[in-house]
Amino acid sequence: MTDIRYITADIKGVLLGKGHPLAVQSMCNVDTNDIDAALRQCVSLHEAGARLIRLTTQGVREVESLGAIKSGLLSMGIRTPLVADIHFSSDAAIAAASVADKVRINPGNFHKDHTLARARFKEFLSVCREHGTAVRIGINHGSLGERITGLYGNTPTGMVEAIWEWVEMCRREHFENVVLSLKASNVPVMVQAYRLLYERMLSEGTVYPLHLGVTEAGNGDMGRIKSAAGLACLLREGIGDTIRVSLTEDPVKEIPVALRVAEYFAGGNNDKYLTAPGVWNISTGTMEEFITDAACAIGPALLDRTLDDFTLEGCVSGKELGPERIGEFRDDILQATRRKITRCEYVACPSCGRTLYDIETVFNDVKRRTSHLKGLTIAVMGCIVNGPGEMADADYGYVGEGRGKVTLYRGKEPVRRGIPQEAAINELISLITSDGRGN
Ligand code: SF4
Repeated sequence: MTDIRYITADIKGVLLGKGHPLAVQSMCNVDTNDIDAALRQCVSLHEAGARLIRLTTQGVREVESLGAIKSGLLSMGIRTPLVADIHFSSDAAIAAASVADKVRINPGNFHKDHTLARARFKEFLSVCREHGTAVRIGINHGSLGERITGLYGNTPTGMVEAIWEWVEMCRREHFENVVLSLKASNVPVMVQAYRLLYERMLSEGTVYPLHLGVTEAGNGDMGRIKSAAGLACLLREGIGDTIRVSLTEDPVKEIPVALRVAEYFAGGNNDKYLTAPGVWNISTGTMEEFITDAACAIGPALLDRTLDDFTLEGCVSGKELGPERIGEFRDDILQATRRKITRCEYVACPSCGRTLYDIETVFNDVKRRTSHLKGLTIAVMGCIVNGPGEMADADYGYVGEGRGKVTLYRGKEPVRRGIPQEAAINELISLITSDGRGN
């Protein structure tokens, strides 16, 4: 048997890979060009415990802003590495490679012509090498592209094939400062994709660090439960080197949840709350800790279908949780793991510097108006550039266009464009009702 090589990524001193601690990270949701606001948010994320901070970097102007934010942080003695989040623009990626500490890209989006995309990727890697910049190659379930879906469908296998081509290019270029991610909002799809990728890396003899996350997980209890269950399933198998819990909330709120997940697996005893087969008893200090721990404890067995139902007893701050609260958690985790659907399913992006409206308020309003629509999936997305591609299998989508306007989608089709934001939720409800699905 060949020896397995475990690659360590070095993001300006933050080491990711086998033998290194799991790193928690998040992403700013303010405009990257609003340098004061971005600096404030970076400081808050750093103080909360983020070891990497990502910023949306649409173009060359945002690369300059990122450089200014980095200098501002350094002047305060904060050395937390900054990650440029690039979509589509290979010019922005190449510019960011000499400024950011790590650049997140999907090279398949660099150019419509695949040969040109490969050429740009090669150029990008050489700038990263010159500047000691790490790379995350991130492929999401919702944006595989026709070339891959035509061959493999919109599947976990397609996700692995899509990323593997770029991994091979990195290998040919002898570029090893690489982290990989395969995110999905559907938790079972996310788990399967990362497991397949891990198997592929083992069979090829080189294991790269993995960035884990459930994307567009939404907010509140459900967002926390989806993330914790998906991450737990992989972390208990030793898969994963850095994690992000994406919530459609202030990104600072992501950090305690991610730290709690990391802490759960740091002790080495994954079954600490199990009192008998299928029976858990969890005592914690806060409701958020309870939800996170319960999802870490119970989620993996539900996802792997080794458990169909469970008994849970809970105590928060010394007070026993009643059957109603436990019942809510049961419904949430069964739905998060796609074992039993009892209500409407939501996909909502965490928002970023491209979001030009108050997505958290809108998402909560959409949830309030549609939660009875069992069996439907509704997406609320921050921007028209990536939102439609990232909505995955949503039946309907509410997508911010900018300038106070919204486009509504039925599946992948934009059906009502340019709707003023004040009227957009009513329009969404009327669209669903006129399709006969509003009951
Ligand atoms: S879909 Fe949301 S998180 Fe993704 S780029 Fe657009 S606004 Fe940002």
